[in-house]
Amino acid sequence: MIERISWFFERVWETVFASFHSWSSFQEALERIPLVFVNFTNGLAWPYLLSSLVLAWLLYFVALRQGGTTAKSFREFAFPAHLYRHPSTLLDFRFMAVDTVLNFLMWIPVFSGVGLLTAKILSVVVIQRMGWEPPGSLTPAAIAVATMGLLLLSDLINYWAHVWLHKNPVLWSFHQVHHSAEVLTPAAAFRVHPVENLITVVLQAPVAGLSALLFQNVLGRDRQFMMIFGVSIFGFIYGLLGTHLRHSHIWMSYGPWLNRFVMSPAHHQLHHSIDPRHWNKNFGVRFTLWDALFGTLYVPREPETLQVGLPDAASRDFTTVRKLYFLPFEKVGRELLSLGQRRR
Ligand SMILES: [Zn+2]
Ligand SMILES: [Zn+2]
Repeated sequence: MIERISWFFERVWETVFASFHSWSSFQEALERIPLVFVNFTNGLAWPYLLSSLVLAWLLYFVALRQGGTTAKSFREFAFPAHLYRHPSTLLDFRFMAVDTVLNFLMWIPVFSGVGLLTAKILSVVVIQRMGWEPPGSLTPAAIAVATMGLLLLSDLINYWAHVWLHKNPVLWSFHQVHHSAEVLTPAAAFRVHPVENLITVVLQAPVAGLSALLFQNVLGRDRQFMMIFGVSIFGFIYGLLGTHLRHSHIWMSYGPWLNRFVMSPAHHQLHHSIDPRHWNKNFGVRFTLWDALFGTLYVPREPETLQVGLPDAASRDFTTVRKLYFLPFEKVGRELLSLGQRRR
């Protein structure tokens, strides 16, 4: 048993530090960074950036016609200096630069390792132990239903993970990092602590493994039909619906009807608001179903002016990249210490 555990940790160690084995592996990892703009599973891929920009531009014209903006140009409307030069945004950009490099050097190998390991365990459990046979083919309708089911399941996991990140004091210390952004610009989306990313990857791994199992034989042939460059069509389309406006000052809602079913950028902006009316609302990512079922849905109606961040000026604790990474551990340590003292 001890041998197995030490084998596992050796592999983890090897994977995490794979980029540091030699100068060439280090260089190779860094050279992959620009791929974020063409890899459609990455939020920074050009179609998502471009579509968000186009949507912002359309919203600017609507605002101009309705007298809803005093901005003198699109640049002033979409990238106002008071937001883009705000200390919180400048910190977001610094954190984003450091974290992107760390992503390629360390986190991506870990996350894909976790994914592969789970897929392997799942295939042993489901195929060998339970004797399930992955289908050789599926009708387009069955593929659509299965994809929708998996999307809803993945959304349910995201929903509960997000609720848990808010309710559990230890996890909140890490999720606080994301909520500590005092203004919303697309860079704030990247202010996520690696521990939070790891939790999400671990919890999502069974769904990813399950869909890999379900579609492995099917998509060999039908890949063109359901997948665009490695992303499911649904994920790709959702990515085009204003991904980067979720963290921005530009209010974009999908309208009173669609807002009840799909999470618009405005839903997530409300999640960041420190107004008690908006607390603990809109935990979901793509669909509103789980928020609606569990009573945490706040459907955006008229545009609202929001103040975002952490209540009680706690955002100001997070002023440097170092603090964004290490303050959560410090907070958890202090919490555990005081818990131990109270017990005594
Ligand atoms: Zn949150
Ligand atoms: Zn957010």
